[in-house]
Amino acid sequence: MKAQVTRDTAPELALRRELHRRGLRYRVNHRPEPDLRVTADVVFTRRKVAVFVDGCFWHRCPEHATAPHANATWWAEKLQRTVDRDRAADTALSQRGWTVIRIWEHTKPPGGADTVEHALTAADRAV
Ligand SMILES: [Zn+2]
Repeated sequence: MKAQVTRDTAPELALRRELHRRGLRYRVNHRPEPDLRVTADVVFTRRKVAVFVDGCFWHRCPEHATAPHANATWWAEKLQRTVDRDRAADTALSQRGWTVIRIWEHTKPPGGADTVEHALTAADRAV
């Protein structure tokens, strides 16, 4: 099972609906940089804002991360690799001028959309 394989989860769809309702248009499940093996959930190409909706379990949300008891070591290493991959992706994208937004799946869509809109406004000012 790959952490990145889950697409179009309910929290992603809820955020996308909220962004769309606010008149924002974006690409879905898109690679911000074609040569980087990183797919963001929502991408604003012109303003270079990449949004990831991170699952609380897989990406180890500080509020909801749980540690399975069975195969504890294996899980700990697997989940740590996911987190390491997240941070590496953040760094790689930032170095190419992207604003990376990570929203926990537990975030209510209005709050998540506010965060995205804020980043878009900041990106507009930077252009
Ligand atoms: Zn959470």
